[in-house]
Amino acid sequence: MTAFGDGTRCVHGGGSAPGVGEPLHPGPVLSSTFALGAGTEQGPDFYGRAGNPTWRALEAAIGGLEGGECTLFASGMAAIAALFQTCGRDGTVVLPSDGYYLARALAADLGLTVRTAPTTAMADADLGGAALVVLETPSNPGLDVCDIAAVSARAHAAGALVAVDNTTATPLGQRPLELGADVVVASDTKAVAGHGDVVLGHATTTDAGLAARIRDARTRGGAVPGPMEVWLAHRGLGTLDLRLERQAANARALASALRMHPAARDVRWPGLADDPAHEVAARQMRRWNGVLRFTLRDTAAVGTFLAASRFVESATSFGGLRTSADRRERWGDDVAPGLVRLSAGCEDTADLVDDVRGALDACG
Ligand SMILES: *Cc1c(COP(=O)(O)O)cnc(C)c1O
Repeated sequence: MTAFGDGTRCVHGGGSAPGVGEPLHPGPVLSSTFALGAGTEQGPDFYGRAGNPTWRALEAAIGGLEGGECTLFASGMAAIAALFQTCGRDGTVVLPSDGYYLARALAADLGLTVRTAPTTAMADADLGGAALVVLETPSNPGLDVCDIAAVSARAHAAGALVAVDNTTATPLGQRPLELGADVVVASDTKAVAGHGDVVLGHATTTDAGLAARIRDARTRGGAVPGPMEVWLAHRGLGTLDLRLERQAANARALASALRMHPAARDVRWPGLADDPAHEVAARQMRRWNGVLRFTLRDTAAVGTFLAASRFVESATSFGGLRTSADRRERWGDDVAPGLVRLSAGCEDTADLVDDVRGALDACG
């Protein structure tokens, strides 16, 4: 499928050719147990914690987009936990100091030896004794980027594996495995499922041995997704190309409007030609997405903005149909109290820009 465009791959990924009379759109397989047969033969499935046909269909679709072997998990954090379990115990784990906060908290909980570095300094980070380097690019919520190919070359020379949290970029926006990374982890709760109704994650790697260990970690640890959630996410993936296109167009228009408004400062969206992250991002990303950030005066100004807006929901998470905004300091991110991560949804661009401009005017 690699020769086809993003839309075609999203619509057809993980689909199989149905026989005559078989469903074109098979539903989720909800069985926890599968028939073993009377003898010693065994089919592809036997127990719902080890495998499920609904999982395999979405794993084939995401793995096809990312260029590796995909394992689904019950959440993005469960995928990151499996990454730490399989790759993080033989040395130091280098994590972004400005990335998703729970990844750092989990590494500490697991007793891993952790070193942190800001995303923009990852290319020069101390890799002595490192077993695993985790990148998050673009980072969440700062939207800084780092050069995946350059860090991967250095990390491999130092004997470390490289994992990229690709949640913000999406499988269409960036292919870290082609840039030299060993593993991709992501939360499919965000843009892949895309409708705000599913919690899901995955890990993808080109290394068959590592893929098997990640799969074993899922079977033994039991952080398995429900087939219904996986089916919903696969349905969501079918429109990822379309949603991303609108979200990126909305983010571009909002970033431009925010920059021109006196109430907002520090507007960051890597797709803007003069954004500090643009050059590296344009080199390694295939397309943009709807996540941007800006800073208002203080906590109260963010409250005024949210109350005055009609379409911007106050909510965490991102990548959904509805535009949403999250004041990140409330979660403990080391950012200004007025920093807002905004996830542009699929509303009409003109409606959204008008709404956000009006809400910014209310901030004075
Ligand atoms: C949301 C998120 C996660 C965690 O994923 P869940 O599905 O919520 O467990 C990990 N990394 C990033 C960058 C995220 O945005």
